[in-house]
Amino acid sequence: MTTPAHPDVPPALDPATLAVVAGRPAPVQGAPVNPPVVLSSTYVSQGTVEPGERLYTRMGTETWEPFEEAVAALEGGEHGATVFGSGMAAVAAVLAIVPLGGAVVVPRHAYQATLGLLDQLAVDRGIDVRRVDVADTDAVVAALHGVDLLWVETPTNPMLEVADLPALVEAAHARHVLVAVDSTFATPLVQRPFEHGADIVVHSATKYLAGHSDVVLGVALAGSEHLADHLRSYRTSHGAIAGPFEVWLALRGLRTLALRVERAQANALELARRLAEHPAVAEVRHPGLPTDPGHERATRLMAGYGAILGVRPHGGPEAADAVVAALRVWTPATSLGGVESTLERRRRFGTESVTVPEDLLRLSVGIEHVEDLWADLDRALRVAVG
Ligand SMILES: *Cc1c(COP(=O)(O)O)cnc(C)c1O
Repeated sequence: MTTPAHPDVPPALDPATLAVVAGRPAPVQGAPVNPPVVLSSTYVSQGTVEPGERLYTRMGTETWEPFEEAVAALEGGEHGATVFGSGMAAVAAVLAIVPLGGAVVVPRHAYQATLGLLDQLAVDRGIDVRRVDVADTDAVVAALHGVDLLWVETPTNPMLEVADLPALVEAAHARHVLVAVDSTFATPLVQRPFEHGADIVVHSATKYLAGHSDVVLGVALAGSEHLADHLRSYRTSHGAIAGPFEVWLALRGLRTLALRVERAQANALELARRLAEHPAVAEVRHPGLPTDPGHERATRLMAGYGAILGVRPHGGPEAADAVVAALRVWTPATSLGGVESTLERRRRFGTESVTVPEDLLRLSVGIEHVEDLWADLDRALRVAVG
């Protein structure tokens, strides 16, 4: 049996409230407060199938829908959200709109696996992939000629460049180019790309949306019914589906999104300010610092600066590795957006863009007490760099 969605959620709620109330079952006597996890690959069915009738879980299940409703409410997506088995499955679904021999403009510092997939599509499908500095609006616009899709990541991973999203959308749409935004770093609390005219929004829900480093999950939203249909049918036909339990965990994580993001951002800004003054640090990248190249745009376009920092200690990659090794509270790990603070030195992998400095530490600031995070960092920097 399907659990009916809550019919009375007022539309004009603050996102912090929506994250808590959206996607709940209807509040009828005896109903559960949380949507149940339904573990069934198939549904009882015979004879004529009515439209919308449940049939088989690859095509849709009631455990996905509350999470999709909540993400759509947060992003302001009027055509729903489509949950995928990973962020990359969502990215692949979006990139599948590019026709054989088509062209894509992409930030040179986009998520590594996105760049890797595009390189593969260039070989397999003859797609012309144009890498640009997404913070350089003129360079992006100059690359748009004959393009099918402008892929925007903002802020970028790991360089934290901030795109002028409204200007890029306007230029792209004037050339009939669709715009997709990977908004993973910002979350819908900090940046809502549909408000700037984006056609598609993608998240690795593995990161802030789920928020506890315990699931791998993706979600994509479209600004038109036509594109939303593409996302859903791609998921069904490619089998890029999420397990019900993972989606339930992500919804549970989403309930605290506002608190987590608020705390992590405050921690990140405070650490950025202190690190910028630290004698062992050569450079700090964070859009919240007034000296950061992305500061003006982030202030204009985002409701906060995110919780990722780029830090280059003095002493090169060896010193950066030594900082990572000396930390006790921070966990050395790839990925980001969990409650726990993690960091990694970039360019550990040969696949990363050579324009990413080899001594760049990417810090994903969590929700711990800021003084504990600072004391650990300060000590590790002094031990490793001097
Ligand atoms: C992690 C990440 C992805 C990929 O998501 P997965 O859930 O790991 O498949 C895509 N884009 C960005 C910006 C990411 O950080």
